[in-house]
Amino acid sequence: MEKSEAKELEEKLFNTKSSGWETVTSEEKNTIFKFSDEYIWFLNRAKTEREFVEGAVKILAENNFKDIATVDSIKAGDKVYFNNRGKSLYIAVIGNKKLEEGLNLVGAHIDSPRLDLKPNPLYEDTEFAYFNTHYYGGIKKYQWTAIPLAIHGVIVKPNGEKITVKIGEDEEDPIFTITDLLPHLAKEQLQRKLDEGINGEDLNLLIGNMPYEGEGVKDRVKLNVLKLLNEKYGIVEADFLSSELELVPAFNAKSLGFDKSMVAGYGHDDKICAYTSLRAILEAQNIEKTAICILSDKEEVGSMGNTGMESQTFDYFISELLNKSGENRPNLLNKVFCNSSMLSADVGVTYDPIYGAVSDRTNCAYSAYGISFDKYTGSRGKAGGSDANAEFIAKLRGILEKNDIKYQISELGRVDVGGGGTIAYILANKGVEVIDCGVPVLSMHSPYEVASKYDIYSAYRTYKAFYEEA
Ligand code: MN
Ligand code: MN
Repeated sequence: MEKSEAKELEEKLFNTKSSGWETVTSEEKNTIFKFSDEYIWFLNRAKTEREFVEGAVKILAENNFKDIATVDSIKAGDKVYFNNRGKSLYIAVIGNKKLEEGLNLVGAHIDSPRLDLKPNPLYEDTEFAYFNTHYYGGIKKYQWTAIPLAIHGVIVKPNGEKITVKIGEDEEDPIFTITDLLPHLAKEQLQRKLDEGINGEDLNLLIGNMPYEGEGVKDRVKLNVLKLLNEKYGIVEADFLSSELELVPAFNAKSLGFDKSMVAGYGHDDKICAYTSLRAILEAQNIEKTAICILSDKEEVGSMGNTGMESQTFDYFISELLNKSGENRPNLLNKVFCNSSMLSADVGVTYDPIYGAVSDRTNCAYSAYGISFDKYTGSRGKAGGSDANAEFIAKLRGILEKNDIKYQISELGRVDVGGGGTIAYILANKGVEVIDCGVPVLSMHSPYEVASKYDIYSAYRTYKAFYEEA
């Protein structure tokens, strides 16, 4: 049957969106699934920012990237990185063009919402030993009770010795948990607002119940735990004062669904964009403008501190590139930033039909419709948001459409429902053209977030095309 004139006009004029799965070949599907398997493998070994940096540096070394501190000069084609205190990482592939012509940056963050141990975490109550915690980032507290938790992090002794802790991941390891109240006795708790169901001060990790044999000591369960820790790690209670121990879900990321079309895992926000941008800078070809991959820390608590994106440490890295390329002169850094472009790579929100009321159906991101761009962030009248310039979006559309990459442009949610932000504004304030984009997820900030494998691969392709063509 011939198409009607109206149908032809519709095809020409409408911006019709559809699931990427509708058009993939079986070969493309295999490529997409293989990429997600590699992501799952990495994510299961990088649940914290420190572990992500460690894993990334290993991959970088295997791919001939060098620590910027160890090289005296750099030229086109060189690959370097800056390891910022083992918690954030800046990676560069030097392009054929001069640095002053601008950089192509992709910036993600590698910290995720979690529970941190307090500085004095260990105590005993009624023959139970506990670690006291203080949550990190925007969590729904009730989601962190009654699930298996693992302890990851470092303990540093006054002599500088650093002890790495990772317990709860191996099959033979014990796990830990935070208890919740049985429904039979929770009448009062269940009347509370969801936000108040679990108090932050009650997020105490259960870690032991067996007393050390002997007399004259008050807290013998605590003593027994400390004795075991002393045997395993050589630490005493005071060593917690100089530690960073994080509680993360003890379960692993896995394929989700009978069709295995999705990935469920802890820490997609934002290791999903961090991993895809890392892969993109490893695999990008023919780099003209210098490519930079930022893996930042502390985004979930406001990007502060010397490992967060607000830190001057990043500017120092770019200055080092200018110094070691022999290109530097007074105030050149400002010009470099003003000539640069950036994809602020952070997760977006997938439209969830169960909670559809928070979304505007024509301005939300759909699962498997491709990488999602947010022209602007912020809340209540775009306040506090970073808003990308139309000219920059047009340029990106050109790159995406030329490379046949499926993408969508969306908003976080309905007007006045809420909002959020990323690291975008920090680079925008320096003069960089920036837009937010990333993989949309379900259950964001929960212990088990969900993303589409199609969208993961779409993000990787976007970051790679951006490095090669922006
Ligand atoms: Mn994020
Ligand atoms: Mn987040």
